[in-house]
Amino acid sequence: MKVTVFGIGYVGLVQAAVLAEVGHDVLCIDVDANKVENLKKGIIPIFEPGLTPLVMQNYEAGRLKFSTNAEEGVNHGVMQFIAVGTPPDEDGSADLKYVTAVARTIAQFMNDHKVVIDKSTVPVGTADRVRAVMTETLKTRGLDISFDVVSNPEFLKEGAAVSDCMRPERIVVGTDNEEVVELLRELYEPFNRNHDRMILMDIRSAELTKYAANCMLATKISFMNEISNLAERLGADIEKVRMGIGSDPRIGYHFIYPGCGYGGSCFPKDVQALIRTAESIGYTPRLLKAVEDVNDSQKTKLPAFIKRHFGDDLQGKTFALWGLSFKPNTDDMREASSRVLMETLWQAGASVQAFDPEAMDEAQRIYGHRTDLKLMGTKEAALQGADGLVICTEWKNFRAPDFDVIKNALKEPVIFDGRNLYDPERVSKRGFVYYAIGRGASI
Ligand code: NAD
Repeated sequence: MKVTVFGIGYVGLVQAAVLAEVGHDVLCIDVDANKVENLKKGIIPIFEPGLTPLVMQNYEAGRLKFSTNAEEGVNHGVMQFIAVGTPPDEDGSADLKYVTAVARTIAQFMNDHKVVIDKSTVPVGTADRVRAVMTETLKTRGLDISFDVVSNPEFLKEGAAVSDCMRPERIVVGTDNEEVVELLRELYEPFNRNHDRMILMDIRSAELTKYAANCMLATKISFMNEISNLAERLGADIEKVRMGIGSDPRIGYHFIYPGCGYGGSCFPKDVQALIRTAESIGYTPRLLKAVEDVNDSQKTKLPAFIKRHFGDDLQGKTFALWGLSFKPNTDDMREASSRVLMETLWQAGASVQAFDPEAMDEAQRIYGHRTDLKLMGTKEAALQGADGLVICTEWKNFRAPDFDVIKNALKEPVIFDGRNLYDPERVSKRGFVYYAIGRGASI
């Protein structure tokens, strides 16, 4: 099937590549000419496990193409995916300017029926807005061409995006048109063989499903962080509590890890956007506001520990930082806890020596101008001469380090662990002062 994907980001590129992998003929359109040119040369703009060979093979096979030519894109597929960003507006609501720009573009160039499939995370009612923009644009062209607008939100996880798209847990489709359901069944058939993963619903429910999913996950994290703050004050250990509650199948062990706050391009912006949606209809979303509040303060925990240990004035101090990305297996630093940490440390006069297995280029792009940040080639190099070690991301190769190496490299044996990677007792026995999240007995 011929498919066009607008937006070659984390969602668009991965989705396009897996659709091409199963044999569809996919043309990707992006306004970023640099990105498009790089992709044609085999330079993949993001780090995702398994993505580079997938893109290269399908590009070479001619099933996956890249272009900035929107007209070509509109002419290519009956199905036109919108996978552009929906960043927060000034007031926190989702900024739909990229989505409506694509809608306008499609209507500007289409000459026959199109099925516009929204993969971006968009507030309830956006499909109506897309429809209105397209109708208006077609009207200015003096045309009355039919089209469908479908909501097909994306649930991939960064760091596991390729396997999530290859083996989706669910394919949510919001539409009121049976023919469109058939078309999407055919498109997704290769991913839907083991059992039917398609969940059909009306468009508004599909739009809300995506926000509900992300807000539920964010709620789980903030809940655990709230309990971790209690554990810390009550002399309990949140890791023991986590195991204790996870054993209940109604709760489960998944996604109940406390830490130094959630980040990324989705949870913070989607919680905020749903709050704004609720407020716009006169509803006060008390729980969602609390989820956001808890997370904002959780991101200040590590800097607070550091100041508790060293005092408020960190002038002249240097900290080793392990982990810059908002979670492992990605280079994405959007809303990462590491950013709050570094910015707070810099404000207090300290400098940072950081290492991340994948996010070094991204850190260079964002903070390359700063003289108080040194990006180091290895995790060991980041330690040299630092006053303490701070951990913001639970990358696998931070989990079993050589503690003697750490101790010898640091000026003082102190670790501020935002991801509870180590056993407090064992680390203390090795002579470290160990600050972790919600492990009251150790602090
Ligand atoms: P991204 O910022 O990585 O990529 C967006 C791309 O769209 C960019 O390359 C940009 O240049 C391009 N673009 C902007 N305007 C365009 C236009 N008019 N025509 C063509 N291309 C255009 O974004 P992302 O992380 O892939 O997210 C896209 C959407 O998917 C968002 O709504 C996001 O909330 C949602 N989502 C993201 C994830 C994730 O893990 N990143 C997961 C599920 C859903």
